Amino acid sequence: MKRILFLIMLFFRLSGFAQTVKEPLNNPKEWSQATQPFRIAGNLYYVGTYDLASYLIVTNAGSILINTGLANSLPIIKQNIKKLGFDYKSIKILLLTQAHFDHTGALTAIKRETGAKLYVDDQDADILKTGGATDYEMGKYGVTFKPVQPDVLLKNNDKIKLSNTVLTMLHHPGHTKGSCSFLFNTKDKSSEYKILIANMPSIITDRKFSDIASYRNIERDYAETFKAMKNIDFNLWVASHASQFNLHEKRKPGDAYNPKVFMDKKLYLKNLQDLENDFKEKIKIDSH
Ligand SMILES: [Zn+2]
Repeated sequence: MKRILFLIMLFFRLSGFAQTVKEPLNNPKEWSQATQPFRIAGNLYYVGTYDLASYLIVTNAGSILINTGLANSLPIIKQNIKKLGFDYKSIKILLLTQAHFDHTGALTAIKRETGAKLYVDDQDADILKTGGATDYEMGKYGVTFKPVQPDVLLKNNDKIKLSNTVLTMLHHPGHTKGSCSFLFNTKDKSSEYKILIANMPSIITDRKFSDIASYRNIERDYAETFKAMKNIDFNLWVASHASQFNLHEKRKPGDAYNPKVFMDKKLYLKNLQDLENDFKEKIKIDSH
């Protein structure tokens, strides 16, 4: 009897049936709140929730969507794209700044409904395939989003092209093994912009870095990410969460198109420095 039970359990484990998705509850209410979509600069638009940023890059060959929020972000993102006058079904490429449930929740639904291809930093591919269960930290919550199969794996500095838009993926690991940012050029009638969509490297673990067996290089990765992020050449930036770049202080609903409000490199460097100070402080505590 025990043997049969064991075989049944093994079957469910291998087939994935036992892996029901449990998206963590009690998230900040701003994550699930709707907000007005708007044009950021050139062909870049904000289509996310109040705090979970999703970015739509529109080209004449379809569009690119970066980050998909929680599972309940789906109707908000769809409605935002519609409000801006674009076609949700024309999404051709899906990208992520990091494979955590607050950016991947609606991913499988969007991929299925649009047929878009998912391009990911190859170091996050495994977390995506297991719905977060193999994440060094979030794995403790089990499967936190619907497992998804990436179509294209990316390495540092790889280019993602759609029509005349070319994004460069910047590998910025630490927060997850495959966290990344995107850099691209866009323009409007009056100016050109070099845009950074940044994944800010916040620390999410309370364990000592040296105790994290499934991520041996975590400390080195964070150190390299801070170094790399301080030296990026750009003039306009946004991030994975609206709160990370003060979106709602910079722009109020109904405000006219004004890319300049997102051109404060000073805030970027300050926020990055604050996170690096946290990192250095953690290393000090770890060594005690
Ligand atoms: Zn995260």
